[in-house]
Amino acid sequence: MKTDVQIAQEAKMKPITDIAHDLGIQEDELELYGKYKAKVSLDVFKRLENKPDGKLVLVTAINPTPAGEGKTTTNIGLSMGLNKIGKKTITALREPSLGPCFGVKGGAAGGGYAQVVPMEDINLHFTGDIHAITTAHNLMAALLDNHIHQGNSLNIDTRRIVWRRVLDMNDRALRNTVVGLGNRGDGVPRQDGFDITVASEIMAILCLATSMEDLKARIGDMIVAYNMDNEPVTAKDLEATGALTLLLKDAIKPNLVQTLENTAAFIHGGPFANIAHGCNSVMATKLALKLADYVVTEAGFGADLGAEKFFDIKCRFAELKPDCAVIVATARALKNHGGVPKANLNTENLEALEIGFGNLEKHIENVQKFGVPVVVAINKFPTDSEAELKLIFDKCQALGAEVVLSDVWANGGDGGAEMAKKVVDTIEKKPSNFKPLYDVELSIVEKIEKIATEVYGADGVEFTKSCENQIKNIEKLGLDKMPICMAKTQYSLSDDPTLLARPKGFKVVVREIRISAGAKFLVALTGDIMTMPGLPKVPAANHMDITEDGEIVGLF
Ligand code: ADP
Ligand code: MG
Repeated sequence: MKTDVQIAQEAKMKPITDIAHDLGIQEDELELYGKYKAKVSLDVFKRLENKPDGKLVLVTAINPTPAGEGKTTTNIGLSMGLNKIGKKTITALREPSLGPCFGVKGGAAGGGYAQVVPMEDINLHFTGDIHAITTAHNLMAALLDNHIHQGNSLNIDTRRIVWRRVLDMNDRALRNTVVGLGNRGDGVPRQDGFDITVASEIMAILCLATSMEDLKARIGDMIVAYNMDNEPVTAKDLEATGALTLLLKDAIKPNLVQTLENTAAFIHGGPFANIAHGCNSVMATKLALKLADYVVTEAGFGADLGAEKFFDIKCRFAELKPDCAVIVATARALKNHGGVPKANLNTENLEALEIGFGNLEKHIENVQKFGVPVVVAINKFPTDSEAELKLIFDKCQALGAEVVLSDVWANGGDGGAEMAKKVVDTIEKKPSNFKPLYDVELSIVEKIEKIATEVYGADGVEFTKSCENQIKNIEKLGLDKMPICMAKTQYSLSDDPTLLARPKGFKVVVREIRISAGAKFLVALTGDIMTMPGLPKVPAANHMDITEDGEIVGLF
């Protein structure tokens, strides 16, 4: 069997100028990054201002398991399938981060015969967006420490600096550091630390910005520290707004690449799906909607986090109206939710499947709460039995959800044509009545309770004492009327990663609320959320190589 990188390297890519031309992008609206990658100028928006938008399809999933689900693969395969049946389609995805690429995950550009290419470039440095974000973030940190060194006229409390440094690497040794050691000229010593770049608030901002102006305004609003009177100090206060925005002048433009079957793909922005909202940029999604009839886009993790935040944060800010949501599930993962350990997932087990189906059932109900029609895509594995597939089909139909088999990993667009027809039929037959779950004018507690009880199925929410104080503080600052960005384990509908399928009778505990004033959301943290991952005992990096002739191995 061929590896992903082998399949990708055999792809017959078209020059990116051809892909752009087919989309109606003009020559002077394209900035080439070699032969197969380009950035698209935001001027296209002005030219196509009056053109109606295409249909927006979200790809989401059940709660992830070690069995693997395949959202990105399904997303890419669905867009190839839509092109096969004659619909002009663009795929819109997140940019992979280097950290997980060298850790356990490997690349994040799809798999099998449903990939975006050039996958090695997309997975590695790509067009430098993540570098630009790292630099902008660290410029902010440098300006902040320099301000303190030069006399601290803003009276910043050095114990209450909330702006850390970032690096696009899984490097646990940098989680807690001390900066400013040395002599008098070497700065003011204080405890600091690093997060991975995709956890930077600037990444979330870049992905939510609806224009250069909006980007600048949001950057200015970022709270980086508090002063001795407990008042926020922003990027604007430190006169950093202009320079930070300048560093992002190209990063804000969507990156155009293609799938293995030459379908256009925008790969742009990649915020964390826990402390941020986990979707590609608003710019890429909006641009794709102007250029295509169908746009297929992915949200990170399961639908309890990914879809909820896509709807309540991204769609709310960008005024997007999703037409359909595809929920990806596999028989294997549902059996895992039903209690079957990873080693036994290849054996038929209808009892476990029946229990595990509860997880899919809850996600179907959740997406329907937002008024968006649902198609369940069963990502096919060779070990799935007929009886198992039939059980999933019957139970989905009983819930009023459309359901279809996806065979895109093994067969690319041909394996996705049936799924594409199902999505088109569903959109034509069932109108979307999309609305966010909650009104932002509700209190912080009410908003979190609504998400926890309605989406997670919790009995209620408990807030720690320190969290209650934080809420009072946020209300005093007048920042409480923003959407909530839940940071919760992705493995369970609850905040306990060991509770699989459809847990009942639990309460969610919120330990901390962080303000992302530039991204314009409040992050509610349940449990420990890692913002600087580490590497495993045997990192994927150990198996990567490049030969004398440029052949790449080990990038999955
Ligand atoms: P997600 O986006 O949900 O994290 P991906 O689409 O990145 O998932 O897929 C995770 C891994 O599973 C990839 O290595 C992909 O090649 C593999 N995969 C996905 N679907 C299948 C399938 N039907 N058969 C075998 N492997 C698959
Ligand atoms: Mg993915």
